[in-house]
Amino acid sequence: MQPIQSFFPQLNTAKNIVITAHQKPDGDAMGSSLGLLHFLIQLGHHVTYISPTNWASFLEWMPGSNEVLDYEKNRAQAAAIVKAADIIFCLDFNILHRVKNFEPVIRSSKAIKVLIDHHELPEVEAFDYGISLTSKSSTCEMVYDFIVDSGHDHLINLKIATCLYTGVMTDTGSFRFPSTTASVHRMVARLKETGLQHSPIHDNMFDNFLENRLRFMGHAFMHRMEVLYQYNTVVMSIPKKDLLKYDIKTGDTEGLVNWLLTIQGIKLAAIVIDRDEERKWSFRSKGNFDVNIFARRHFEGGGHKNASGGRSSDSVEATTEKFYEVIRQYEKELN
Ligand code: 5GP
Ligand code: MN
Repeated sequence: MQPIQSFFPQLNTAKNIVITAHQKPDGDAMGSSLGLLHFLIQLGHHVTYISPTNWASFLEWMPGSNEVLDYEKNRAQAAAIVKAADIIFCLDFNILHRVKNFEPVIRSSKAIKVLIDHHELPEVEAFDYGISLTSKSSTCEMVYDFIVDSGHDHLINLKIATCLYTGVMTDTGSFRFPSTTASVHRMVARLKETGLQHSPIHDNMFDNFLENRLRFMGHAFMHRMEVLYQYNTVVMSIPKKDLLKYDIKTGDTEGLVNWLLTIQGIKLAAIVIDRDEERKWSFRSKGNFDVNIFARRHFEGGGHKNASGGRSSDSVEATTEKFYEVIRQYEKELN
């Protein structure tokens, strides 16, 4: 993987460009992809954002979101677009299997592949150019740097600002995580200069759910949560029947894991959700407990030191049992 700066000259001639980000895109994946799209379009490129899967309805207010192609619903069309692509940008993921069924299409493409990402241990062999910085708050911050460092600060408009603000805001927990550097605040000040209205973005992202989601969360806190004080850990295990009963959709469970960390003294929060195709884990920690390593070691996953995810093919009961088993090794670290 060559440094991103050596890719900049390629921005000067019009190309067919595909942007993709991780499956079930969050605010940062969708925000960075659409922010980059609105930038590249101004340079005269032909750009398509192909998402490996569907996304949460609370992202559908974002400028350009109505033109995102869902790979799982448009496989032939997406494959044809990738075939014609000169360049593929891969955003907000480190390993190609994070694009799920879209992976073979991307991997076999002859297009130049460019990575912009902030997760640990990128699969550098898979990319021609790229930048991977775990110190960065968000991929949105990195797309902002990409625009500025390639000499195009003047092209940052309201659409770009809206998209990039969304991801930096969600990935920093609304500017509270340690990743919220002075550069993040400087970037936001620059975005505000485009006329950016930040309050409606917070409303769109956080106050945009149906009653059922809150009732589901109440049920989960009452009946599906265990506090393991011995390990300063909270674990929540959500069976399929709860998702069906409360009509829970993609995105409705996002952020739930963070609530578990609000209990005094808790250092590790874990939640497992019984999705159709797999059991999906989310891990969050405070302080030095490294959930990237934990997820890699025990749950086929990864991510960041304080926020990671993983998966299991076992039943929700069996994978939860495994969690109870492995956590015993970490009693010292968690105290
Ligand atoms: P979340 O719990 O919000 O789904 O994910 C937390 C962080 O871990 C995100 O940065 C996400 O991209 C990453 N992550 C989630 N699941 C996985 C996984 O299965 N593998 C890897 N490598 N990263 C993941
Ligand atoms: Mn991110």
